[in-house]
Amino acid sequence: MRWQGRRESENVEDRRGMSTGGQVAMGGGILGVIILVLQLFMNNGDTSNLQMPDLQQTTPSAGSTLSPEEEAEDNARASFVKVVLADTEEVWTKLFARSGAQYQAPVLVLFRDAVESACGRASSSSGPFYCPADNKLYIDLSFYQELQTRFRAPGDFAMAYVVAHEVGHHIQNLMGTSEKVQRMRGRVSQEEYNQYSVRLELQADFYAGVWAHHAQQITTADGRSIIEADDIDEALRAANAIGDDRLQKEAQGYSVPETFTHGTSAQRMFWFKKGFLTGDIKQGDTFNASTLE
Ligand SMILES: [Zn+2]
Repeated sequence: MRWQGRRESENVEDRRGMSTGGQVAMGGGILGVIILVLQLFMNNGDTSNLQMPDLQQTTPSAGSTLSPEEEAEDNARASFVKVVLADTEEVWTKLFARSGAQYQAPVLVLFRDAVESACGRASSSSGPFYCPADNKLYIDLSFYQELQTRFRAPGDFAMAYVVAHEVGHHIQNLMGTSEKVQRMRGRVSQEEYNQYSVRLELQADFYAGVWAHHAQQITTADGRSIIEADDIDEALRAANAIGDDRLQKEAQGYSVPETFTHGTSAQRMFWFKKGFLTGDIKQGDTFNASTLE
């Protein structure tokens, strides 16, 4: 992706240097209680699974002991995700305006090790996630490394896909889709709920594809598309790497389809690709699709 020197989003809270333990945690106590009460109020007491964790991280992030080289790399990755976020703002603002709506951009929170969100406390091990209760995306940049090493999905656009997927959850939040799915929790069996979850996740993949489609029109100062030849393959490789079937097979040697919450590798690639090829939000009704791939 051609991203260097391009506009970075300002909708970013950089909490990388912040401690989440000790005094900060104590200071956050009262606020934390207020948030929890608000959450209970808003969700009729159900605080389970408010956040949308997408990938479990295995390696702990480097934490506060970064060498100067690691720090420089971390900062470059921060710049990269801020540029991607700015590109999602540009595309979604345009698409919302087409239907006469105004796009409310989400905030990206960069953190290291652990973070407090309106959906609860999360550690890097829960991977990037979106919290519908505060309209924020949470990313520990060490996940970038995780994509390359554990998931063998190298290339900057693998990470751009992850950011665009989380923004996809924000779109679902704005459209009321996430709330509809959340309301099914407890009303249907866990197995059925998982199916709703899969459709929600595949739609976020579809929205990531829709974004990539329109991002092709964004150009650099010298007039070239920001999307490079290998970018879409990088995204597809990432989507392939994080399918439930593949992750379960890797972890336990077999997969259990009833427990899938994000979709298979084939489904994730299919919906990203469909979004990329059509660029049309209306084509992404995963909830009424007769087949998911
Ligand atoms: Zn997701």
